[in-house]
Amino acid sequence: MAKIKINKDRCKGCYLCVANCPNGLIKIAGELNAKGVKPAVFTGGKCTGCAMCALVCPDCVITVYK
Ligand code: SF4
Ligand code: SF4
Repeated sequence: MAKIKINKDRCKGCYLCVANCPNGLIKIAGELNAKGVKPAVFTGGKCTGCAMCALVCPDCVITVYK
């Protein structure tokens, strides 16, 4: 199973990844990060490794592991 890692303290909270994961595996955290925004978090689950999330992230803070 593939997975992703989000560098939470570099996330600026644009949520493009949340909107673009075809499987709905990224949500918005309850806590603020170092930038003072609620970062995106990977929920786990059936990640296909499609890399859509990493592709749309403007700041390249998502790494996909296949
Ligand atoms: S790699 Fe694809 S399936 Fe996995 S979290 Fe990113 S967008 Fe979703
Ligand atoms: S696309 Fe990148 S910067 Fe935007 S919420 Fe997702 S991880 Fe954060």
